[in-house]
This record gives sequence, C-alpha cells and structure tokens, in this order.
Amino acid sequence: MKFIHGRRELLSGIVPGYTDPEACTRQLMELKKQVPSLYALLSVNACALAFTHYPFAPAWLTVGLPGPMIALCAFRAVHWWRMQPQDIAGPAALKRMRATSLLTVLFSVVFVGWAMMLNAYGGPFEQGHVAIFVAITVIACIFCLTHLPLAAFLVTVIVMGVFLIHCFTSGNSVFIAIALNTAFVTVVMVRILTNNFLAFLQLVASKAEAQRLSEENQRLAHTDSLTGLPNRRYFFQRLDALIAASAGNGAAFALAIFDLDRFKPINDTFGHTAGDRVLEETGRRLEAFAGSGMTIARLGGDEFGVLIHAAARPDEVADLCDRICAALRAPISLGDTQVVPGCSGGLALYPQAGRAADALFDRADYALYHSKERKRGSMTLFSQEHEDAIRDARAVETALQSADLAAEMEMHYQPILDTVTDRITTVEALARWTSPKLGRVPPDRFIAVAERCGMIHSVTLLLLRKALADAARLPPEIGLSFNLSSHDLASSETVIAILAAVRQSGLDPRRITLELTETALMRDFEGAQRAITLLRALGIKIALDDFGTGYSSLNYVHRLPLDRIKIDRGFMADVESDLGRSVVSTILDLCQNLGLDGIAEGIETMEQLNAVRRHGCRYVQGYLIGLPQPITELLQRLAAMTGPGEPAAI
Ligand code: C2E
Ligand code: CA
Ligand code: CA
Repeated sequence: MKFIHGRRELLSGIVPGYTDPEACTRQLMELKKQVPSLYALLSVNACALAFTHYPFAPAWLTVGLPGPMIALCAFRAVHWWRMQPQDIAGPAALKRMRATSLLTVLFSVVFVGWAMMLNAYGGPFEQGHVAIFVAITVIACIFCLTHLPLAAFLVTVIVMGVFLIHCFTSGNSVFIAIALNTAFVTVVMVRILTNNFLAFLQLVASKAEAQRLSEENQRLAHTDSLTGLPNRRYFFQRLDALIAASAGNGAAFALAIFDLDRFKPINDTFGHTAGDRVLEETGRRLEAFAGSGMTIARLGGDEFGVLIHAAARPDEVADLCDRICAALRAPISLGDTQVVPGCSGGLALYPQAGRAADALFDRADYALYHSKERKRGSMTLFSQEHEDAIRDARAVETALQSADLAAEMEMHYQPILDTVTDRITTVEALARWTSPKLGRVPPDRFIAVAERCGMIHSVTLLLLRKALADAARLPPEIGLSFNLSSHDLASSETVIAILAAVRQSGLDPRRITLELTETALMRDFEGAQRAITLLRALGIKIALDDFGTGYSSLNYVHRLPLDRIKIDRGFMADVESDLGRSVVSTILDLCQNLGLDGIAEGIETMEQLNAVRRHGCRYVQGYLIGLPQPITELLQRLAAMTGPGEPAAI
C-alpha cells in the first residue's frame, strides 16, 4: 500500500491534479541546483562528439544540427539559472516541471538520434566515442534529474531503447555488450534515484507536518478553549502591533472592555455548566460583530476585549460599543430557564486616552469600573474628566497610604429625628479626613480610593472602632448608624472583624445600624445576604442607604431582611413637585407594607420637612435637623436641648 502510494507520489511532479503545492515548490528549488549543470554537460558532451566526428561526418551533422541544439541548451541553462523557484507557487511550479519533462523527451530523441546517425561515420574509435557519449550522458542526466524522476525515467527509456536497438541491429557484439551493460547500470540508478526521491518527498511532508503542528500550537496558545475566541495573550499582541502601526501612520483605534454584570450569581445559582454556556453564548454574540477591522478576545472570567482597528469617529465607535453591550446583556436561555447576564463596558480611544498598551487598557478598565459603579448596564467612554479624576485619586491614594489614619481621621455625627416623638433616635457617623498634604478630603472620595487600592478593610475597621468608642458616650436611647463600603460585605474577613469590634466595644448591638448601598448587594448578593443574616442575628439593624438611586432597588427590598430604608436626598429637592411627591410617597408606602422604618435624608427646609411628614414619614435627617458634627459638640447640643432627665429632642 505504502509502495503504491509512493509510486503515485513519484509521478506527482508532473501529473495534473497533484495537490501538494509545498512539495512542488521544493522540488523546483532542488531541480534549479542541477538542471543548469545538466544542460552544460549535454552541451560539452555534444561539442566533444561533434569535434571527433568533424573530419568524417557531413557538416550538417557536426555543425548544422548540434549547433542550434547546443544554443537551445545554453538558453535553457540560463533560464533555469535565473529562475527564483522559492517564489513560484505549487501549480506554476508543476507547470514548469511538466514543460521540462517534455523538453527532456525532445532533447533525448534528438540527441540520441543524432548520436546514432554519427555512428555511421568514422572508425572504431569514433564509434566507441558515440557509445561513451550515450552512456555517460544518460547517467549524467539521471543524476541531474534526481528530483524529477519521471523525466529521468523517460530519458533512460528513450535513449537506452534507441541505443539497444541500434547496437543489436549492428550485430557488433562489443557494442551489444556496452549497450546491455549501460542499460543495466541505468536501471539500477533509476531505482536508487526513485528511493532517494521518495525519501525527499517524505522529508518535505514531515517538514510540512511539523510546520502545521507548530502553527496549530501557536493557534491554541492564542485561543480561549471555552469560547474559541482569541485569548488575552493574543489580544495584547494585537494591541502592541496596532500601537506600533499607529505610531507610524497616525491611525486612530479604540479599545473596549465588556464585563457581564451578573455572571457570578448565575454561576453560583445555576452551576458552572450554566456559567460556561453563558460565556459560550456571549462569545457567539461577540463574534457576530466581528469584522475585518476588529479583534475580539476573551480576556478571562466574564471579561471580553474588543479592538476596533481603523476607528471611525468617536461617536460611531461609541455607538457600535453600545450595540455590542446591548447584545451581550440580552437574556440567555438555559433550557427551561432564562438568565439575564447584564453587561457593562468601558471604552478608550487611541491616542487620546493613552499611547502605551498598559495605559490604554487601564483607561478602558477605569471606564468599565465607572460603568459598574455609576451606571451599570451601559458603556462609558473614557474622558478628560476621568483623567482628572484619576490624577486626583492618585494624589489621594498616595496621601492615604502614607497617612497616620488614626490621628488624621475622625467621625462626625448627624442626628436622625423621630418626628412623632420629636426625639433624636440615632446619629449617623460620617468620616472626616484632614490630610496634612491635601487638606480636607470628602469621605466619598477617599472611601472610593481606599476601595480601589485595597485599603478599605483597615479604613472601615478604624472608623468603626472610633465610632463605637464615641457611641459609648451617647445617651443609651440614642443609636449609632455606620456606613459600610460596598466591598465590606463581600469580604467575610471584614464581616467577622466587624462583629469582633462590636463585641469588644461592649455597646449593645441593638443600638447599631449598618448602612449598605445597593452596590454592596449587587457585588455578591448571596454573600451579602449571608452577612446580613449573621449581623441581624446579633441584633444589629440593617439600613438600605440612598434608596431609589440604584436601578433595581425593589429587587433587593423584597429579598433581604432589612430594618430601614433611607430615601436618597436627591428626591428631597423635588418633594414639593407632583413627581417628587409621588416617588417619596410610593417609597414610604412600600416601607409601611414591609414593616420597615423609612428615613428621609437631606431635609434642608421646613417645606421639605412638612411635605415628608404629610406623606407619613416618621424619621428625618438633614441640615435642617442638624449638621454632621464632632461627638463633643453633639453631646453639648444634646445636653443643651434636653433638660436633666428628659430625652433628647429637637
Ligand atoms: P451618605 O451615607 O448618603 O451620607 C450622607 C451625606 O449627606 C453626608 O455627606 C452628609 O453630610 C450629607 N448630608 C446630610 N444632610 C444633608 C442635607 O441636608 N443636604 C445635603 N446636601 N447633604 C446632606 P458626607 O459626610 O460628605 O458623606 C458622603 C458619603 O460618603 C456618604 O453618603 C457615605 O456614602 C460616604 N461615607 C461617609 N462616611 C463614611 C464612612 O465612615 N464609611 C463609609 N464606607 N462611607 C462613608
Ligand atoms: Ca449613609
Ligand atoms: Ca445616604
């Protein structure tokens, strides 16, 4: 079987339909090394034969016929010598080899015919020369045509056939012996040549296989096995290449990162197989957008990257990214159930957002973070505003890392009033940081920085300990409300440390309320639920802060064991308008139905206070009731407001 296959390959060099272009080109390259020598050899041998027969044979046989043949040989030798076979593709190479084989047949017929005609002239020496000419020329041809075995075979058959017939018909036993001897040598040589050629083909095939395997390895090293998309490594290679090209030609391009909003809960609830299917489907949806000018990759986890090469106008790129984001956040069906993965994205433009790969990627990542924190489910284009915010955040981060937090931070307390009893029931602890380098830094800014640079755990605990120590100085009927960062509940280490701090303080846990935002719940709903249950088991109350600003608040209110809801102060500005009124009264109705305390934040005017009271809001907080102030001032105020033995009242 192998032999038959080998024979077929042997013929391959000149058989139409042969399909290994790589082997054809290689064959031509090898032939180029030998064919010019073949023509040179043929010319020299023919010259020598013409020379020895010149005195005996007619001129047309010693000059007229060999002259043009030798000229043709020289022409072909030059043609082969100048050929660039490495640039000749398989089919063209095949065509040339076919032409060479045909020419070989022509040359064989003409030269052997010519030699036989010369044999009629001269004496035994000249006739001996003809025999030598035939023998050495055919052997030389076989050698030179090692990589075109069919041509070598044809030469042998034609030349030896004619020579044998000629010698046998001459009846001269010496010539018959020479002819038989030469024929035997050439047959053996053709056989050796055949084996060599098969070995050559195998070598070419194994090289091609090695090349294919190395390309396959390369492809696998650059492919994400789950989605089949290019992976992070490939993405960054393309990014580097794009930056290098753009640095030369000034072309703009864009880098976008997409991240699923609810992948973790889907994975936790439905299992990893479902999670994999969500990622596969996300990969398919992304691929639907793939065009020649785009690189799409899975960067890891539920994060995907897109490079939009020749980026058009920024608004067109943003529009495309919006469409991708919308496609990725659409529901995915998993058999009987449907999951809504949600998707947020960040977009950075080259060169505006950065000229280095890392800088550009970090900017897109920042924009993604911004989407996640502020407007989940949408795209954010990195802007100058973000650049300024990054610079500020860096300054805050540097100051925070070198700060003596215990000395530089203190807590201020803002009262929350019960409008029914006119008493202060709780004070909300609000952090204040006065940095020697930056001056006063607002808490939302340094909390966000502490979250990003991984310091939030220690900052929260430091602030909580301060607040608990201050709370020990408050009258026992006044509770303490403390804000947790969205990262705190996600870390079981922090939750345990909070419980330990509360226990250590000796404060009755029932006096403590922890305020959470929706972002904390979004981050890891199951984890937050577990932590809340644990904290409530100890008697700690849980308030949902800034209610109404998130996009799916109602989802959480029903599913979590809460005690309080704080209506965001943003609604108070409109509380006297129809819309504002109806929002606030709807939230208060909800609180009443669920048996939760509703607290209106940001009450600045009597009108606002009266409006929320009319809607049945019992608890209020805001500048009108009291500004955030240090514990000593708060205690003085409480003491001034209440006579001895009376409860604290406004
Ligand atoms: P928040 O939890 O919503 O805190 C209420 C914010 O509203 C406080 O700002 C407070 O000073 C302000 N405020 C109170 N009454 C009024 C009013 O009548 N009108 C207006 N316009 N504003 C009022 P502050 O102290 O700048 O805190 C901002 C945010 O920083 C807080 O929002 C909270 O999210 C965060 N934060 C403050 N302290 C801490 C803390 O100790 N830990 C954590 N994790 N976050 C904190
Ligand atoms: Ca709060
Ligand atoms: Ca609030």
